[in-house]
Amino acid sequence: MFARTALLSLALYASTTAFSFTPSSSISTRAAFAPSTTLNVPSAVRTTSLRMAEEEASDSEYDYDVIIVGCGVGGHGAALHSRAQSLSTAVFSGNDVGGTCVNRGCVPSKALLAASGRVRDMQDASHLESLGITVEEGGVSYSREGIANHAKDLANKVKGNLEMSLVGLGVDVVEGRGVLTGKTGEVMDQSTGKVYKAKNIILAPGSVPFVPPGVTVDEKTVYTSDGALELNSVPEWVAIIGSGYIGLEFSDVYTALGSEVTFIEAMDDIMPTFDREIAKLAERLLIRDRAIDYRTGVFASEVTPGIPGEKPVTIKMIDAKTKEHVETLEVDAAMVATGRVPNTNDMGLEDCGIETNRGFIAVNDKMEVLTSHEDDAEVVANVYCIGDANGKMMLAHAASAQGISAIENIVGREHTVNHDAIPAACFTHPEIAMVGPTEEQCKERAEKEGWTMGKSQGNFRANSKALAEGEGNGIAKVLFNQETGEVVAVHIIGIHAADLIQECSNAVAAGTTVQELSMMVHTHPTLCEVLDEAFKGAVGMSAH
Ligand SMILES: Cc1cc2nc3c(=O)[nH]c(=O)nc-3n(C[C@H](O)[C@H](O)[C@H](O)COP(=O)(O)OP(=O)(O)OC[C@H]3O[C@@H](n4cnc5c(N)ncnc54)[C@H](O)[C@@H]3O)c2cc1C
Repeated sequence: MFARTALLSLALYASTTAFSFTPSSSISTRAAFAPSTTLNVPSAVRTTSLRMAEEEASDSEYDYDVIIVGCGVGGHGAALHSRAQSLSTAVFSGNDVGGTCVNRGCVPSKALLAASGRVRDMQDASHLESLGITVEEGGVSYSREGIANHAKDLANKVKGNLEMSLVGLGVDVVEGRGVLTGKTGEVMDQSTGKVYKAKNIILAPGSVPFVPPGVTVDEKTVYTSDGALELNSVPEWVAIIGSGYIGLEFSDVYTALGSEVTFIEAMDDIMPTFDREIAKLAERLLIRDRAIDYRTGVFASEVTPGIPGEKPVTIKMIDAKTKEHVETLEVDAAMVATGRVPNTNDMGLEDCGIETNRGFIAVNDKMEVLTSHEDDAEVVANVYCIGDANGKMMLAHAASAQGISAIENIVGREHTVNHDAIPAACFTHPEIAMVGPTEEQCKERAEKEGWTMGKSQGNFRANSKALAEGEGNGIAKVLFNQETGEVVAVHIIGIHAADLIQECSNAVAAGTTVQELSMMVHTHPTLCEVLDEAFKGAVGMSAH
């Protein structure tokens, strides 16, 4: 391991303060599946044909009712729902069925977390001892290749399952990359030049890792999540640039496998996007007790790859505000976890008069593409965009929900996704999960909208199941509207938080009140009783 000291700290540490639906009648819809919809017709109902406009094409001129460009979870979800509505459907997969989630995201990262989490558990002799388990001398070992293969095999298996579901449902999969030609309803296979026509096009190209200027990625010693997921090495000391959920999950993997981690975070606070109270607890549970330290308020302005075992990776850091050099680190490896950018380059968007903002495609609540992000933007008729590429909520299940919603709008059942009710989770040990705004945002919203925020908390330390597991750390806090009792947000840190959040997400979606939730019976003994305690506390009742 390279000297774990900061070099060249010449600069003063001054302040480390610091970041329409026009469905042709030939589209058959299945009345049996008509989910209840949230009607929220956007004000911008003007449509434009722009450069895409040509004379109205007749049905026979179309190859498909729907073409989907991109087959990540968003495109896949849209394709399945499209076929459920009996729409003829093709999906351009770019030879990457499953997209980021399956091949380079959720799935392999959770495989790494599951395997490394077990290593962590088995190495925690005092925890095991408290359960009456003794770890024998010789300790716990793991095979890096074995863990890496587990992640790879799982991704391949899930990818295969997705491919089979498409074929089984009669979706035509075009393996090439799809680009818009600039003519209405046309998508061209870039590899063959063949043009396909559809009444409706759904853009689902997803996102790719963002690499800040000055950072050189070799995917060996300096890598993004794409490289990190391959687990080609377990560096002794790894700097993780960015402390969002991806960086945090990888810190969990690395520390379980024996690495030391240094976070480099541009914002004043570590884990800046999380609810502050939860972030504070997370700092204790996921950072302070582990071989992790961090720098905040600094940018990694220059990152140079190294040679494993020979030359370290160097990371020059500048103050986020003054831009003065503050420190240079020499580490074994650096992971760049500084967010993701839309994968919308060279898709022919400009030829269709679609202006993006930092690559993000503007959409209205019906997922219809708008000509720009400006107020006077117009709807591009029969073109939709779902998933990471529209930037509304860069999560796998949000992409899939948006895909289903786009199809609902295509068949004429107006639908909007309630993004406030979409949960999110960080699969560390223990997990963090949330639905709705942070407490800070919630207070602001309450003040602006003229209601009073209520807050109630349940504790893992008072929960029999958590204690049985020796996992009594964590809280669940429920934020609600005191006047109506409606749940606005829930934040959980604790064992299996990602599973616990679903009840809360359903409550937010359904507008369930804390009064109603406090009278619902929760199974005993389960972790759900942490939420029961919080719901009951909100109305002045005590849980047992
Ligand atoms: C390490 C990591 C962990 C994550 N963990 C989670 C998690 O636990 N939970 C969660 O909800 N989210 C997680 N995410 C985020 C999640 O992966 C994304 O939000 C999700 O994959 C977005 O889905 P999508 O369909 O919009 O795009 P993508 O999954 O990116 O799929 C888009 C697909 O379209 C293809 N494509 C692009 N352009 C074209 C074209 N012109 N023609 C044909 N094909 C094209 C791409 O190659 C890709 O296959 C994680 C992401 C990462 C990186």
